[in-house]
Amino acid sequence: MSNQSTSSAARIEHYINGRAVASTSERRQDVFNPATGVVTGQVALASVAEVDAAVAAASAAAPAWADTAPLKRARILFKFKDLIEKHHNDLAAAITREHGKVLSDARGEVTRGMEIVEFACGIPQLLKTEFTDNIGGGIDNWQLRQPLGVTAGITPFNFPVMVPLWMAPMALATGNTFVLKPSERDPSPSLMMAELLQQAGLPDGVFNVVQGDKVAVDALLRHPDVKAVSFVGSTPIAEYIYTEGAKRKGPYPLRVQALGGAKNHLVVMPDANLQQAVDALIGAAYGSAGERCMAISVAVAVGNVADKLVEALIPRVKALTIRNGMEADAEMGPVVTAVHKAKIEAYIEDGVQAGAKLLVDGRGLKVAGHENGFFLGGTLFDHVTPDMKIHREEIFGPVLCIVRVPDLAAAVKLINAHEFGNGVALFTSDGNTAREFSRRIEVGMVGVNVPIPVPMAWHSFGGWKRSLFGDTHIYGAEGIRFYTRYKSIMQRWPESIDKGAEFTMPVAK
Ligand code: NAD
Repeated sequence: MSNQSTSSAARIEHYINGRAVASTSERRQDVFNPATGVVTGQVALASVAEVDAAVAAASAAAPAWADTAPLKRARILFKFKDLIEKHHNDLAAAITREHGKVLSDARGEVTRGMEIVEFACGIPQLLKTEFTDNIGGGIDNWQLRQPLGVTAGITPFNFPVMVPLWMAPMALATGNTFVLKPSERDPSPSLMMAELLQQAGLPDGVFNVVQGDKVAVDALLRHPDVKAVSFVGSTPIAEYIYTEGAKRKGPYPLRVQALGGAKNHLVVMPDANLQQAVDALIGAAYGSAGERCMAISVAVAVGNVADKLVEALIPRVKALTIRNGMEADAEMGPVVTAVHKAKIEAYIEDGVQAGAKLLVDGRGLKVAGHENGFFLGGTLFDHVTPDMKIHREEIFGPVLCIVRVPDLAAAVKLINAHEFGNGVALFTSDGNTAREFSRRIEVGMVGVNVPIPVPMAWHSFGGWKRSLFGDTHIYGAEGIRFYTRYKSIMQRWPESIDKGAEFTMPVAK
């Protein structure tokens, strides 16, 4: 931990039952401005009792909220959406201050999160189900999609606004109450969102924030009143959340969707527009300092495209404008913490030791005026092989690895053999190549000449393999399924109910 702490470091607390609640827990963690290395806040790390208080508030609010007409719930979300627009810059600045990503990127994050709110505003239509008049014997059959009750979200540092908004608007629109446990590395934007929801007219207790770490997470997983947990973060924790959740006993097993880590490849075919592929790689590998779950961290160069690709990439990586994300011309900011920076540097050293060719080394970068910031330059490796740790593991930093393969079949084999399957991209000018690739690849989200294929709000987001544990992807139609329980109702009135007991399987008559 840095000793650059300021005496004005803010205390970052919980938000429970419609108000900010000062933590009584002794435990706190420093929050940094990654561009300066200065400690800007001390976030509370909730005790079990504090988590219990948040769940109790959410439980108390649940029946009335579930009974609130979907249109009324939607009206609050409409207001929330207006407030996000009004405070777009404030939210973006709060992200940049604690995460480090450049302000324009932070604004984009807020927009992508707001799109889920916009989708959730359509909930009266989205909750409509099917109805069959007279399935037989005067009986009608239809479904309800009913809320679960108290739901919880556990979110990562890399999208402190967007990822909570992948979850909460869907949970609230479908009639659930929600407890958010944001990342302890950039916790402030979650409190801003809680206040905006309150201003939008959300009743007390419907949306709560508990700050914390493993203690808070475990308390949420074990709490019998929590009916569903959405998690986004690294694969080891996603797997932990999923298996811990499955252990919970009771009439309702805990419903879990746990989105894990990634290693996303971008395949460059010999017929691709090279300039477009290079632009795509630079933005997708180094944007947000590579700290995106959909960042491209491997370029798969097919056939004779490799040398031309390398030649075009080197000057671009060296020319990246790396600054405090608050500065207008910054293309890339710092990474989130000094600890994370050291982890990325260790991966770079590992790649060198394993025999990959280090074409651009981002270590040792100093940004003038920000000597204590957690900056790392863009890093580029060539001749990376599938078995190397820098290819097998997620680095989550501004490091791009080039793997050379002879043909498309080898590219598909390489990607399908990887344990992660979040996103993938193919750059080509051939439609049939694109079609075959899209059908054969074992990855949840595929981009054809699109480097970061993040589905729109009304489609659903999620990877395959060890990038997602659970049955449903997040937001969109799958989000509605995740946050509701399906009930089928058959009903008949009244003259046909006096025919006596029936002992055979009911069939249409
Ligand atoms: P992380 O797994 O360290 O933390 C995520 C959340 O889990 C945080 O709220 C944290 O407090 C909590 N947590 C951490 N350790 C825990 C433990 N031992 N027990 C219980 N809870 C714990 O992830 P991160 O570093 O904040 O975020 C980056 C990771 O998230 C990357 O791996 C990235 O790929 C992944 N991610 C994935 C997606 C996706 O859509 N699949 C999206 C965003 C981020």
